[in-house]
Amino acid sequence: MRPAESVVDGSRAPGEAIDAEPRAEPKDLPAVDRLLREPDVAALLQEHGHTLVAGEARGLLEARRAEARAGQLAAGAVAMPALATALRQAVEWRLAPNLRAVINLTGTVIHTNLGRALLADAALQHLLAMMAGPNNLEYDLASGGRGDRDSIVEELLTTLTGAEAATVVNNNAAAVLLTIAALASAHEGGREVIVSRGELVEIGGAFRMPDVMAAAGATLVEVGTTNRTHPHDYERAIGERTALLMKVHTSNYAVQGFTSTVDEAELARIAHAQGLPLATDLGSGSLVDLAAHGLPREPTPQEKLAAGCDVVTFSGDKLLGGPQAGLIVGSKAAISRIRKFPLKRALRMSKLPLAALEATLRLYLRPERLAQDLPTLRLLTRPAPAILVLAQQLLPAVAAAVAPRFEVSVVELMGQIGSGSLPVERLPSAGLALAPQGKKGAGRALDELATALRGLARPVIGRIAEDRLLLDLRCLEQPAWLLEQLGALRLALGLAQAQDPGPSP
Ligand SMILES: *Cc1c(COP(=O)(O)O)cnc(C)c1O
Repeated sequence: MRPAESVVDGSRAPGEAIDAEPRAEPKDLPAVDRLLREPDVAALLQEHGHTLVAGEARGLLEARRAEARAGQLAAGAVAMPALATALRQAVEWRLAPNLRAVINLTGTVIHTNLGRALLADAALQHLLAMMAGPNNLEYDLASGGRGDRDSIVEELLTTLTGAEAATVVNNNAAAVLLTIAALASAHEGGREVIVSRGELVEIGGAFRMPDVMAAAGATLVEVGTTNRTHPHDYERAIGERTALLMKVHTSNYAVQGFTSTVDEAELARIAHAQGLPLATDLGSGSLVDLAAHGLPREPTPQEKLAAGCDVVTFSGDKLLGGPQAGLIVGSKAAISRIRKFPLKRALRMSKLPLAALEATLRLYLRPERLAQDLPTLRLLTRPAPAILVLAQQLLPAVAAAVAPRFEVSVVELMGQIGSGSLPVERLPSAGLALAPQGKKGAGRALDELATALRGLARPVIGRIAEDRLLLDLRCLEQPAWLLEQLGALRLALGLAQAQDPGPSP
């Protein structure tokens, strides 16, 4: 993540020959104390204190000494002003955060590698307000006694989903783990959990259903086949040791063709006839009907509960559009067991995401405004024609910034919802395609362009496809963030001297 050493040096690119210049010897470099006494460094010490500045000075001089020993240090690099400048840069780099705001032009709205759902303004404001001082996280303002942090969102969740009860944990993986552990261990006879073979999914990041079962202390009983599972498969598998029936929404892949699954209503009848609970892991789980917003349908917790599920788990930062969280809704009996299970304490949500979650859920009380107020839904429902207009508006400035090395055109694109939801559905979108001029060295030119975009102060993340770098503009709500960096992009591409005066927004 840190820049190459040469950036700190500022005098030459990595590997660049310095044969023409005289070289410095290790003994030409000053001692740390001498550098710290340099007038230019005084301001740095004043601002950041001795510990950080002296530490960076030691590191810088050590690196320079190694370069000098290797005959790789230009004589000019040992001058005090050059060292002072390099030291300032080193200090600034050390203080710069690793977690940085980027511009997501990948075309994937809920991008797992780019922080998933964006928080709504209301959530950001509530988060900030609640974290600025004490709050009633576990304090009952009515009685003045101890409160339960679950109560901050439980009523909202039951209102929105129709569930009898609800609880929340760190993420949906934790919700699934806790649900299985609590419900399987509550059973006297055994800890078998019955799942269809077609639903033994792996979610990104090594979350595999069979492993989760094992970690939860449950015994997995697979029924059916990859493509077809029938009611009698479940019925036959139920025995004395069965503790739970489980259904997993296969969010990141689709089995097509000769398939058959048992829906929740049927499965609930089978489970309840034997006095067993049924849990469903929805993964993404939207609280609103996406079809009403012109998007592909995604199952809702509401309908799964209405179908008879005792527990439904889903994620806070996928389609819900909130912070990382695992939401668990269901019957009073099941939720009460889950809440009392010791693992719950280890997986409980922190006050930070909890504040954001409450504010996000409250947005759902005004469904008519949701497509405006909730960034995830706002971006997902952004019409392709509007994105195309934006692409046309940005074209001249972007084209000027990368000319003559790259040719820029407006293109229609297909984006994705992301985060494993609705894998086969695509979102019609639009954006800019940047193609290298000439075939020779095109691959290298594209890599260089992608690297330059990622190297901007607010890194721009696109995607490379068919020998072009594609910038899908669906998620670009602030075009200025891109436009104001085009000058820097031009510089990074070594194009500053070209005939074009450069872009201006
Ligand atoms: C994403 C997903 C999970 C994990 O949810 P996180 O919130 O990422 O922990 C679990 N199950 C399914 C089906 C998922 O799609």
